[in-house]
Amino acid sequence: MNDLAQNTRPIRYKLLYPETQQILHDVIMSEAKNLTEKFYSYFLKNEEAAAFLSHDDVRKHLAPSMEKWLHSLFDPRNPEINHEQQRKIGKIHAQLGIPIHLVLRGAILLKNELGHNLVSIMHDPVPLGDALLFACNKIDKAIALMSAAYVTNTKRNVRTVEAYRVMSLGQDMTVERESQLIALMEWSQNFLFTLIAHDKSFCPLSNSAFGLWLRHRAIMLFENTPELDGLIQKSSEFDQVLLPEAKRINAITQQAYTLKFQAAVQELKYLLTTLFQRVQGLERGIDPLTSLLNRRFLPTILSREVSAASHDQSALSIVMLDIDHFKKINDTYGHPGGDRVLKQVAERIQNTVRPSDFLFRYGGEEFLIILTEIDGLAALKIAERLRETIENVPFIMPDETQLTVTASLGVANYDGHPDPDVLISNADRALYKAKQNGRNQVAKN
Ligand code: GH3
Ligand code: MG
Ligand code: MG
Repeated sequence: MNDLAQNTRPIRYKLLYPETQQILHDVIMSEAKNLTEKFYSYFLKNEEAAAFLSHDDVRKHLAPSMEKWLHSLFDPRNPEINHEQQRKIGKIHAQLGIPIHLVLRGAILLKNELGHNLVSIMHDPVPLGDALLFACNKIDKAIALMSAAYVTNTKRNVRTVEAYRVMSLGQDMTVERESQLIALMEWSQNFLFTLIAHDKSFCPLSNSAFGLWLRHRAIMLFENTPELDGLIQKSSEFDQVLLPEAKRINAITQQAYTLKFQAAVQELKYLLTTLFQRVQGLERGIDPLTSLLNRRFLPTILSREVSAASHDQSALSIVMLDIDHFKKINDTYGHPGGDRVLKQVAERIQNTVRPSDFLFRYGGEEFLIILTEIDGLAALKIAERLRETIENVPFIMPDETQLTVTASLGVANYDGHPDPDVLISNADRALYKAKQNGRNQVAKN
């Protein structure tokens, strides 16, 4: 056991009056139920906390254990706090993902309520102060122990998830991807057979093998990626929109529906493929679509450049570039059309900067350029040149039409601040300014 609270010398509150313990015990004996009710009625109404609670759970499990916890915390026969019990509670909080700030808020609520009770029965201020301090100390200590266990267990959970992810990524992801593409195809074929047979017993996508994979394995493998969020959202649209619609199809609407269904399946397949590509690329540090660096090594590279600029007293600038109204391009030309623009924008940036600069695909349609040994004025000129190379030559779209694309750019210069993140947030702010001022322009911090 190496949790923080155990290694720290215990801080004790020395009671002024030995009878304080008994008074607290009596208050808890008569008020524990009431306190618990107030506690949970507050949290059941709190939006953030309610996500972790159900009325049923509270009634069956949580309220009784909280009462038990209060009793043992103020049991005069065991004046020492039960470490094991607090650790167990902290561990459960970690497993459920209940944030520490909610637990602390619970402690405030308990202390307030208990305080009111004590104030109403104790009129002499000195014993009252003794009782209040004693009660608050007990609760604070318990929370400190819970929090220590919470942190240890959260770290452990994160490590387990990471380890699983790394292990899974070591497996053959191509096989995993192909098998899910097949699962998706099988489900869509069955869906269409059901449709043609005028049978109404459609299998929801969420009940298919693919849906199951998405809910369990994909969440573990691709957690926190925007591509996964997109895939989950599109999949749920199937069950919420396309499936109910299928039940209302007649001979006249069937063909149009089938086309719509197939287009939606294509979109899902596209999202699934890019999800795998992105994540495999992420591991290598390269964005597969543009072949630029992805964010993986940005912190390392930028830190090194900031240190070098500080050490050599040299200039350093960064540019953040974001394509304007990119969503509209996707909406008009589909994702493949949008991808084509991204690829070409990346090429144009690459042709404009020097080989000693670093180019990153920073986000969906955002690029970050580290301009080494470039001062503020020069950086503005380069950014303006980048803006022109995008606006001045129309992009050829998949349907052979020409499209003028523009971008907004934010420039920030190294000003001696050692934190690389400051440089990024300055560029971000400048970019925001360029967008606010009407897009298709360069702004500096
Ligand atoms: P603004 O001018 O304010 O920047 O508007 P915007 O539409 O460019 O910006 P917004 O952030 O609203 O939309 C960005 C879109 O980029 C949303 C997302 O679907 C799309 N996107 C992100 N990554 C990719 C990708 O890899 N390929 C394609 N085709 N689209 C992507
Ligand atoms: Mg953007
Ligand atoms: Mg944009």
